[in-house]
Amino acid sequence: MTQALSTLADRVAGTVVREGDPQYEEARRVYNGMVDARPAAVVRCASEEDVVAVVRHAADHRMDLAVRGGGHSVPGFGTADGAIVADLSPMQSVQVDDAQRSATAGGGTTWGRFNDVTAAHGLATTGGIISTTGIAGLTLGGGIGYLCRAHGLSCDNLLSARVVTADGVQRTASEDEHPDLFWALRGGGGNFGVVTDFTYRLHPIGDVLVGLMFFELTDGPTVFRFFDDMLDEAPREYGGYPAMHLAPPLPFIPEDRVGQPFAVIISCWTGDLDDGQRFFDRFHQVATPAAEMVAPMPYPALNALFDPLLPPGLQHYWKNAFVTELTDDAIAAHMELGARMPAITCAMHMYTLDAAVQEVPSDATAFGHRDARYVANIAGMWPDPAENEHNIAWVRDYYAAIAPHSQPGGYINFASSDDQQKAPDNYGANHGRLTEVKRRYDPGNLFHLNQNIEPSRV
Ligand code: FAD
Repeated sequence: MTQALSTLADRVAGTVVREGDPQYEEARRVYNGMVDARPAAVVRCASEEDVVAVVRHAADHRMDLAVRGGGHSVPGFGTADGAIVADLSPMQSVQVDDAQRSATAGGGTTWGRFNDVTAAHGLATTGGIISTTGIAGLTLGGGIGYLCRAHGLSCDNLLSARVVTADGVQRTASEDEHPDLFWALRGGGGNFGVVTDFTYRLHPIGDVLVGLMFFELTDGPTVFRFFDDMLDEAPREYGGYPAMHLAPPLPFIPEDRVGQPFAVIISCWTGDLDDGQRFFDRFHQVATPAAEMVAPMPYPALNALFDPLLPPGLQHYWKNAFVTELTDDAIAAHMELGARMPAITCAMHMYTLDAAVQEVPSDATAFGHRDARYVANIAGMWPDPAENEHNIAWVRDYYAAIAPHSQPGGYINFASSDDQQKAPDNYGANHGRLTEVKRRYDPGNLFHLNQNIEPSRV
């Protein structure tokens, strides 16, 4: 094994980091500080050829293969004890084609880097709300963000992908080439190969109007009901969602309210800024926020706004559920469990999946939950491992309270390590077809460190 890894180290352009190497401690770590795995080697891939070498090495030596883009997977799929890790973080080139309004980005690119490069061209696509998340895992699982209502999920904007499949072959997946693989990549997670390049459709996006409105819990039910009622006629320029938070120590929060629970509306407006202000003002007609911040900012700044609250290394335990109808009982559960939030870094975000997301048929891509109006994500995030039990219990209690008002399945990208048995529900009606594509491209399940899809039996 050691000899084989040395041979691999000679063959790749990137770096092979092993136990004992000075970079090993840092290389084995992922974003979730709770994950403490010790892989056999972390290969920092510098090229598509490096990825091929790692995939072939794992297959030939029957090693577990972990694939890492941004490393944000909550279950820590980007690492594993004894595994070989294909770490694509060196592959972060982003090239914009202005004429085609598209961008091609390396498989290790983060949204922060992607947004910065495309914003310089006045363009953007749907991406995650934290800048350090990888484009890879986020897009392959679906991809939810502020531009969803206007432009669909991240995977809906994927035009093509370069993929190294389990046989070590480099392929292009698009509507025209390997369309079955292309279908599966758009929601089927990291099950089908290592994506070395993603090409996205881009949209003109300038400064956006951002609103953070913190409402008293007593006003929460009225505000959430208003949000739900107005959603059907809300223009596509509006991308926002209801949330539960403890007030963070930000300049616009009165000092004596920091750490107290609030029902929050987080808003983004991509159209004319005055129209956005008028739209945000509608919330004032329902209740007066206890604290608020409304300001225009560049789109990349919005997607880095919460970064300082969420540095790498926090403990993470999440649960989530798709919601078809937001009932009064569910809203009451949010107020009750939101009020018991144990840490200032925890959050419940209820992202909207209507408008452009629902215009794509549920079987057009592997992301199958287009009938859901929201996905409610209970994100347990806290700094101190001594608080694990308390925080995990809160996430589980919260989930138990909203589960009766939700679908059985959840979004694979928000799942926890103990959600593996939910994979069939999480892939929903598309699970069967995904198992068939899996058999075609990865019959031996080499790519199993993910929300796993087992290959169908012939
Ligand atoms: P990684 O841990 O590197 O990988 C995640 C999965 O993708 C693994 O199974 C991995 O094997 C696979 N993978 C990674 N790279 C590749 C590749 N190049 N080719 C093939 N497979 C690959 N999701 C949203 O939709 N919207 C959000 O706004 C959002 N915000 C988030 C904020 C935080 C703080 C965190 C922790 C997560 C957030 N997520 C969000 C969830 C996020 O989409 C998932 O955690 C996603 O898996 C992260 O992708 P990654 O590349 O960073 O993770």
